[in-house]
Amino acid sequence: MSLSGRIALVTGASRGIGRAIALALAEDGADVAIHYHRDRAGADETARGVQHLGQRAFVGPASLEDGPSLHSLVEDAAERLGPIDILVNNAGIASRGLPVSKTDPAELERVMRVHALAPHALCRLVLPGMREAERGDIIMISSAATAHHGANGAPYNMAKSALESLAFTLAKEERRHGIRVNVVAPGLVETEMGLRLMKAVAGVESLREVDASMPYGRVIQPDDIAHAVRHLVSSHSSYVNGQRLYVDGGGA
Ligand code: NAP
Repeated sequence: MSLSGRIALVTGASRGIGRAIALALAEDGADVAIHYHRDRAGADETARGVQHLGQRAFVGPASLEDGPSLHSLVEDAAERLGPIDILVNNAGIASRGLPVSKTDPAELERVMRVHALAPHALCRLVLPGMREAERGDIIMISSAATAHHGANGAPYNMAKSALESLAFTLAKEERRHGIRVNVVAPGLVETEMGLRLMKAVAGVESLREVDASMPYGRVIQPDDIAHAVRHLVSSHSSYVNGQRLYVDGGGA
């Protein structure tokens, strides 16, 4: 139980990658604050999983586009579980897949708010408590999109690049407080977002249709990402800071 005594906040843990991360951290002994936006039932299901593993769970709502709700989330989580010493900025949205020439600036602003400004706000909110802990970890869930900068994805590409920039900057600022800040950047992962994306760009009905074209013959699973996160926040990863770990089978 290498994370025994530690308290994690995982955003977007009502499903997909966030749920897998919450469960993996609980399996390693952390208590977990489970953030959701609309899907309370999904968040409760994640909480039951955490409790089943013998750990404490807190479930809290917030919109990543609403600063005061993020403030309440961190305050309520800390009141129930104690100060957060692991923050996983995971929650996110896809962009509409349009070229720059056709992108509404309002969409760009929204995607930037969700992927970059909200994580910045959350880091600011948890840092005072995290600095007091023996060890602190912040993980940003980015995307292999930052390796490719594919066409028709400017809002998402720009927002994930900004998120990574936040991580690399913060890593240097906070190491003197015993905090590590790292980036995990997945390729296509089997979640609602992953399926929606592949339906839109490749017209597939099931991700099984693309397994054969993927590295290792299968689409990445949420647990593949969770295992990378649990390693980075563990004692096996004490001197790794300011790094980006692509979990994409070696790339396209
Ligand atoms: P998902 O299944 O669509 O889940 C998204 C999560 O984010 C949900 O828990 C959702 O909460 C929350 N969320 C969405 N909009 C929000 C908002 N405005 N405010 C607060 N929370 C919000 O996505 P996923 O595939 O697990 O993705 C997780 C992360 O991995 C994202 O940052 C994504 O960019 C990244 N990623 C995904 C893939 C992929 O192929 N799936 C690849 C690379 C990177 P509710 O359900 O409660 O509304």
